[in-house]
Amino acid sequence: MSNKINFSQIKDLMLGKEEAFLTQYYGLDSSIFAKKQKQKPCPSCGGKDRFAILKKHGFRFKCGWGAGSAGGDVFNLAAHVSNESLAEIRKNAIEFLGCEVMSPDREREIREIQRNAARIRKIEAFEAQKKKDAVAVEARKMWGSMPEANPDHPYLKSKLMSKYAYKFKQFKNVLVIPVIKLNKIVSLQFISDGKNFLKGSDLKGVHFTWGKIPKDAKLIYIVEGVSTGYAVHEMSKGVPVVCCFTVGNLMNITESLKMFFPNSKLIIAADNDIREEGNTNPNTGVETAKIVSKVTGCEYIVPTIKSGKKCDYHNVFMQHLIK
Ligand SMILES: [Zn+2]
Repeated sequence: MSNKINFSQIKDLMLGKEEAFLTQYYGLDSSIFAKKQKQKPCPSCGGKDRFAILKKHGFRFKCGWGAGSAGGDVFNLAAHVSNESLAEIRKNAIEFLGCEVMSPDREREIREIQRNAARIRKIEAFEAQKKKDAVAVEARKMWGSMPEANPDHPYLKSKLMSKYAYKFKQFKNVLVIPVIKLNKIVSLQFISDGKNFLKGSDLKGVHFTWGKIPKDAKLIYIVEGVSTGYAVHEMSKGVPVVCCFTVGNLMNITESLKMFFPNSKLIIAADNDIREEGNTNPNTGVETAKIVSKVTGCEYIVPTIKSGKKCDYHNVFMQHLIK
């Protein structure tokens, strides 16, 4: 019988055995696993109802809410109630599991499960990539078949972007923006009443760029939307601006730019998603910029307009022009 198990196997093997492990090795009372009452005092830090064990998606625990809260899997819980490091806990887990679980049958079963999971992941990844590739081919075909945008397109006019109509295309009354990844069109953004992407697009790492980025660029701005990018490009008198289209893509793009232009200063010109009164949703634009700035070390700036409402740098640009 083999005793060699790696960390992912420990996790798999521990499934359904968390309670036994924590009671035997960490002296937890089995009452904390009882389903009846969900929120309980924490076996480590007390309280009345700060502690809960959730079993919906595997074994998770939660202690406290807000600042100073803890949570995680069975190993994190062991750490929460003891002074042991994760390495020591892992050793205990191996000892706990090794004695009863590693029968050759169980080992074979686990290997089979893992093989199947890997096979499924591979197939899914392959299928997903195939779909994205097909969308990219479709995007390039559509782009090639459409005429250049009319400078009088209402969106271009309202955003004062008519002189750049040649960068875009038009399909009936829809303005079409090329969505680029690694110098190739991989999707299209359609702007009419709303904004949409070609269905099934891969939007990770895509962008549209205002201005050329020289290898030794001193400064590059990063924004979400194409018209916001235009405004920043104009106001900065030609500094290159990379538009990442969606806030969910801000981290990808900033990290890529950091890699390709390690000597350039990067500034995120965030969208200021101030919510209407009573709307408790977070200010996604600013919050994301903060996180990306923390992770990548780049700076971020936040626009404001006179009304104090939700805005981006295109709103600021327009307000300056009106003045
Ligand atoms: Zn606790």
